[in-house]
Amino acid sequence: MLVAELEFKIIADTSFAEAEQGIRHYLEKLIFQGQILGREFPTYQAKDSFFSRVVLPQSDALDKKSHSSAGLQALEQLQLVGLSYPKLTILGDDLMSNHTDPCPSHAAIILFCSFSATNSVLYCAEHFAPVPLYKVGRTSGEDFESLVRWQLQYQALDEIQMQEKRVLFKSAEQSVQGFYSELNQQGYQQAKTLSKELSKPVYYYLYSGSSADCRLETEKKCPSCGSDWKLAESWHGLFDFCCQPCQLLSNIAFDCQS
Ligand SMILES: [Zn+2]
Ligand SMILES: [Zn+2]
Repeated sequence: MLVAELEFKIIADTSFAEAEQGIRHYLEKLIFQGQILGREFPTYQAKDSFFSRVVLPQSDALDKKSHSSAGLQALEQLQLVGLSYPKLTILGDDLMSNHTDPCPSHAAIILFCSFSATNSVLYCAEHFAPVPLYKVGRTSGEDFESLVRWQLQYQALDEIQMQEKRVLFKSAEQSVQGFYSELNQQGYQQAKTLSKELSKPVYYYLYSGSSADCRLETEKKCPSCGSDWKLAESWHGLFDFCCQPCQLLSNIAFDCQS
């Protein structure tokens, strides 16, 4: 992934508040389309321009064709607050983030979320590398706002349940690893809807951290349909269970692996 800077030149009378609002609105639409990653975007004014620091999944992320309809609208609205189209300068590779999947198209996708990663939650099933949201092949022009908002909630709960001195014990863990929690039901629904729209499998990953009895862990059944779903060999070194009809993946509980 790449660290980049966007320059918005002041081209007409504007106030700081108006310009800030316009930039904020545009950056939000870029987030919802997976064109920029992370949550913090330092923005400052210098001479006749505003500058925002962003992280891009790929160098083509801000091409016009990568935008959602809402993103294109926000781009046009910049002029109403006296700003130019942004000029992009790529500063270099982001050493702290992982690599974006290089495939031009994907036979199948995995929806995988974890607390630490700021990248896309949609992964190439073949390489298990993140696919920028704007690259998954959606043609409706709609963005991924609901998926990005779901990711934020998932990460907040996962962050809590990963802490040794967690402030919410069972509730955070149950949300993240219980298939019937609101969190996982919403995530699973997102995967199903996307699978229908793209006409390809979108597997949903169900995290498993702890188990009531590790001796029975490998015999557990698909939580959706009750079938056997243990794989002969783990997939991508992480998934030990896969139910094809339900498009669900999971692992042997991490507490039982050590
Ligand atoms: Zn790939
Ligand atoms: Zn199943």
